[in-house]
Amino acid sequence: MTEGPRARLIHIDVDRRLGHEWDEWDGRPLPNQGNYDSPAVLFFAWSAITLAVGLGFVALALFLLAPRLRDVHSSAPPLLWGAVLVTGAVLWVWWGILFLSYEMGRPLLPERLAERGPFLRLMRLTSRTADRFGRRDWVENAAVKVYNTLAMMRGRKVGQGELLVLIPRCLSKDTLDGVLGIAGRYGVPVFVATRGQLARRVIRERRPRAVVAVACERDMVSGLHDVAGKIPVLGLTMTLPSGPCKDASVNLGQLEEWVRAYVV
Ligand code: SF4
Repeated sequence: MTEGPRARLIHIDVDRRLGHEWDEWDGRPLPNQGNYDSPAVLFFAWSAITLAVGLGFVALALFLLAPRLRDVHSSAPPLLWGAVLVTGAVLWVWWGILFLSYEMGRPLLPERLAERGPFLRLMRLTSRTADRFGRRDWVENAAVKVYNTLAMMRGRKVGQGELLVLIPRCLSKDTLDGVLGIAGRYGVPVFVATRGQLARRVIRERRPRAVVAVACERDMVSGLHDVAGKIPVLGLTMTLPSGPCKDASVNLGQLEEWVRAYVV
């Protein structure tokens, strides 16, 4: 068999690899140079809208299905309406206590009923609502702020070897040096997690008692949703002046404050 022409393998060196959370990025500069700093109240406003819309959808579905349900059993619709009303009331009371807890700076709920429980689901749902209106990153920034405030109220302490600092691969060189300097000062191990999945594996294998994680808002919210129920986490979001997944910077003062709060 004669050898035909062979295709040339072309290697493309890219200066960044996008995390899947940024798949739809169009290459244009991010608003406000990738700084999504927002007041915590933004999360409470959007989460209230999310709760109201969610409960509204359930009520509408029940209203539309009521005639059929009545055919199945005459008392089904009133029972289901009762269940929706009770669930709605419980959710709003819970939301109100969460809000008061944040405002007063006091942990009014146990962590399993707050930042390590249903709060994580509300944060995720709220992020989806905000995404539909193009406000995802700002609302997620506010959500992570509320989450961290609630988590810090617990005053948790761990040993140096029991804390883990998880950083992404997109930090700028200066920021990376700063992070390593802080971790070195407090004797805390640092792991670079190239993907969310890997971060979860590191946590599973190292079994730390607490984690300080660094990531963009998008990665942070999905990471907290998956991990914070199992292990206490503080989440430090980043600024992305060069767009996603490259040359990110963080507030090193905040990072040091959190590491110190955990281990000193
Ligand atoms: S943490 Fe960094 S690398 Fe990961 S998705 Fe966000 S910007 Fe990209």
